[in-house]
Formats: sequence, structure tokens, C-alpha cells
Amino acid sequence: MTTIKTTLHHYYFDTTQPDQAKQYHAAVERARATGFPCWTNNRDFDTFTKEAKQARDYDKMISAAVARPERTDLHGGMGCGVFSAPIDLETDHLFSDQWNSAPIAGVSESGLRLFNWVENRYANKAIKWGYWLKQTEEMRAVLRDTLKCGYCGRQEQAASGMRFCVSCIDSEYLKEDQLYLTRLMPVSNKAKRPALSAEESAERVPLFRHAQIHGSTQRGIARIAKQRADVEQDYNDSIKEAENRRTAATWILDHVPGMYGNWIYYSHTNRHSFGWRNGLAADVAAELAERLKADGFPFAWDIEHADKSKTSSDK
Ligand SMILES: [Zn+2]
Repeated sequence: MTTIKTTLHHYYFDTTQPDQAKQYHAAVERARATGFPCWTNNRDFDTFTKEAKQARDYDKMISAAVARPERTDLHGGMGCGVFSAPIDLETDHLFSDQWNSAPIAGVSESGLRLFNWVENRYANKAIKWGYWLKQTEEMRAVLRDTLKCGYCGRQEQAASGMRFCVSCIDSEYLKEDQLYLTRLMPVSNKAKRPALSAEESAERVPLFRHAQIHGSTQRGIARIAKQRADVEQDYNDSIKEAENRRTAATWILDHVPGMYGNWIYYSHTNRHSFGWRNGLAADVAAELAERLKADGFPFAWDIEHADKSKTSSDK
């Protein structure tokens, strides 16, 4: 997993206090400088629903993430102020307006989903709780230089020069009028994907139609290979099962024909059961076991006794 570094700034103020109100406005100016709009979370909960608990747990993790020994600054008193700590962002799955953090030791093993700027809204409007991510040149660069498919989300490096996604063109769900979505655009792009030009249609539509019948992408080729292997496996399993059944039935008809109607083959365990319909009396079971062993019944077997006990082959 590739990660990039930035700083998480978390703030908490009670704006009924004039000095805190002033600090809050300064913090908002810094958050606004990220260039991203504020994402508002409703925390006006008066119930203890699962959703409310998840929200509170998330907020606690944000607070914990800036309360680590690595924190870089701590202003204000009485738990109010701006608290900051370095944080690693992962780049495997990028979004235009939010980030996944790498795991944070002691806080979240799976990492946190972070927006660029968040503020909570409480019933008490004077309480201001929020956070923002410092925007670094590296963050801007990775969103600009990574292209994303608007249909399947696959990411490609801009340096590859690819214009369209090669991963999903043979998807059974993709429709011809959605082909423009496979246009690769920088992750930072928020505009609608342009429709295909006449020239692009002339190239993409035939590829799409061909792929619907023949498959084309690496993923499609792998899927076809897997389907082919599954068909072969089913065929081989069926043949083997039919052969086993015939071999066993023939042996039974040759050596213990009276057992034929009281015999069943369980193909999933590859075992043959005698007495499954009517349990055998002890002396009949003993004689059958002797025949199966002495005459060499070639499979694993079980004999069900009338008293519900069971005799089984060694294998
Ligand atoms: Zn795609």
C-alpha cells in the first residue's frame, strides 16, 4: 500500500467564550483555505441508536488520532483549541473529495475515512467540533496524476497515456450508452464525463460490441478461462461419479445382489452405504462385511445396523 503524508487538524470550541469564538474563526479560515467545502455531519442526536453510536465512535477516533504522542501542536486549554498530528493517507482507492487513512496505531486498524473539511452540527450551536486535512502538493499531484474509470473505478497513472478503461468494456452490466463513463479522468475531476466524440464512438462502440460476444480484457480473459475450467471440472466430476456408481453397482450385482435395493452411493463423501433403507440384523451385517472385505469391494463403505450402530470399512 502506497501512502502519502499530511497533517490532520482537529478543532473543538465553545463559542460562548469570546476568546474561543475568535480562535474558532481563525481555525475556519485555515480550513477554508483547503479550497474544499465544509462537509456538515448532523450530531443532533437525542437517542442512542446504532447510527448515533457509530457517529460518536468515529468522532472519538478523530480526537484520538490527534491525541497521539506524534501530535505537533496543541493550543487552547480545557480541551478546547486546534489539535494536530501527522497522518498517512493511502492511495490505492482515491476519491475527489475524501481520503482513506492508513491504519492508525491504537486508534483504527483499518484506517479512517476522512473528508477534507468536516464540522459537526449539535443542538447546542455554540459547540464547534470539526477537522480538516492540510492539503499538500503531493495530495494535489496524486489526484491530478491518477486517472479513474467512471464506470468501474479502476485507477491508472496519467503517465500511461491511456484514455479509456481497459478493465470493464466486456462487463455484462455495461450498456452501450454508458461507454462515455469508461473515459479515464483525473481523480480530482468533478465535472461530468464528456460524451464520446464521433471519432471515439467509431473506435469504442465496435470494441464494446466485439467484447460483449468475445470478451477482451485481461479480466474478461481470466473469467472465460475460469468458466472453461469450471465446465471441465463439472464434466470430470460427473464422469467419475457415473463410473464409480457403475463399478459399485456391477460389483454388488455380481457378489451380493440382494443388497442392490438397500444400497446408496453418496457421491459428495464418495462412500457407499448398505442398509440405509432397512438396517441390517447383526448376523446379516457381519456376513455382508465379510463378503465386502474378502471379495474386495473397491470403495469405502458403511453398513447400517437395525440397532442404529454402524460398521465401516477401514478406509
Ligand atoms: Zn472501467
